[in-house]
Amino acid sequence: MAGLLPLDEAQARLLALAEALPIETIAVAEAGGRWAASDIIARRSQPAADLSAMDGYAVRHMDLPGPFRIIGESAAGKGFPGSPGAAEAVRIFTGAAVPEGADTVIMQENCAREGDTLRLTAQPPAPGRDIRVRGSDFSEHALLVARGARMTPAAIALAIMGGHGTVPVHRRARIALISTGDELAAPGAVTGPHQIPASNGPMLAAMLRSTGCDVDDMGVVGDDLDSIKGAVDAARRHDVILTIGGASVGDHDLVKPAFLACRATLDFIKVALKPGKPLMAGRLANALVLGLPGNPVSAYVTCFLFALPLVRKLMGAATPLAPVLPLPLGAAMPAVGNRTEFIRGKIEDGRALPFRNQDSAALALLAEAAILIRRNAGAQAVPAGTIVDTLRLD
Ligand code: AMP
Ligand code: MG
Repeated sequence: MAGLLPLDEAQARLLALAEALPIETIAVAEAGGRWAASDIIARRSQPAADLSAMDGYAVRHMDLPGPFRIIGESAAGKGFPGSPGAAEAVRIFTGAAVPEGADTVIMQENCAREGDTLRLTAQPPAPGRDIRVRGSDFSEHALLVARGARMTPAAIALAIMGGHGTVPVHRRARIALISTGDELAAPGAVTGPHQIPASNGPMLAAMLRSTGCDVDDMGVVGDDLDSIKGAVDAARRHDVILTIGGASVGDHDLVKPAFLACRATLDFIKVALKPGKPLMAGRLANALVLGLPGNPVSAYVTCFLFALPLVRKLMGAATPLAPVLPLPLGAAMPAVGNRTEFIRGKIEDGRALPFRNQDSAALALLAEAAILIRRNAGAQAVPAGTIVDTLRLD
């Protein structure tokens, strides 16, 4: 068990503990937010035929500028069986198959029809104009969604357009949340001077649910070993047991002793991170355990940096860590101590602007924050305009 672990190493070690959960095959329509468990390959080309991109008339380009004789119609879902010969045109609608032999569509705004005769009223279109060529979106056998990519709304549409009705995904991770603290009161309860509302559980549950996992908020347990141990034991069947609070080394910080009493093995207990130094991770039978600090901002930041990537990895994400957005700083920032810092801030005029107050209990500013600005352990002071790594909160 190491002492104060560098952030990147701690994240890598946590993710190394996690293996993707079993695969299930579900309807593509139900797969939103999951991660593809295998490459999704096109079973058809799209479009499957040359289609018109406009309402108009399909002709042979060599016959322009016309006039043309209209010999039939091709509408979406029902094509035109014949093919236009010299100076012949086929009425065509958006999404309809271009008849054999035609190679250009004249949009209807650029021509005039009189009975069966069609005359151009504008410059002739270029060859191939307003035709979506067969396979121009994707061809059969093309890779549509790579294994480990998220099933975004567009990926759902793409998989379905590629001929898939079902898709293999990893099952949803099941997360147990346990809040610890004698001072914690239920949301909405009247609080005495020694109490505070237990806000972390619902906050982290909401963050975790954004990954599509199932969250069991097991509520609050007091600061005594048996209660915490009992809650951890009761959570054994989950994929991740996530505790909040009681993670440091004070007399009332009993999460580590409780984990050990439940026969968990801990991989690390402290990370060189601000906020969020006391942070434990390990394994308890088939579950992973993650002990986060109780200060609301620390809990938020460590959930963002550790719990969310862990859940994404369990659910099969190829890139479980949050993407980095480099931005120029909107203000100078001081040198950094021996812990990597994440500073709450916002984006203003394309620049990352740190908030002045970085109190790790201040929720009003957390709710206003749009980004976390990353400053590495040991970094020098930097002037405004320096490019820094940021993480977007949303
Ligand atoms: P701890 O990590 O248990 O020492 O808690 C650090 C600070 O966070 C204390 O001020 C706690 O009252 C507060 N805290 C702990 N758990 C929660 C929670 N679930 N919701 C809100 N605040 C909490
Ligand atoms: Mg506590």
